[in-house]
Amino acid sequence: MSSRKLVSILSEIIEERNKQDLKWGVQDHDPLKWNAILGEEFGEVSKSILENNSYNYREELIQVASVAIAAIECHDRKIEAAKESYLPR
Ligand SMILES: [Mg+2]
Repeated sequence: MSSRKLVSILSEIIEERNKQDLKWGVQDHDPLKWNAILGEEFGEVSKSILENNSYNYREELIQVASVAIAAIECHDRKIEAAKESYLPR
């Protein structure tokens, strides 16, 4: 894949992340809830395959990637917060 195409796809994922933040705000969930959200999005990918809908298939894959990134962001926030709350004696 050319780096131009990769940048284009990553830009779509970033755009979707921004849409999610506008819609939901910063989301801090536990891993089980993130797993459920990802499972729901993965299910939508599967549904698009069953419906032979290639447009939705691609859109849902972008959403899966975006939700995975949101879960990583949440995890990293929690790790950073844990570091900040640790006070060495
Ligand atoms: Mg979806």
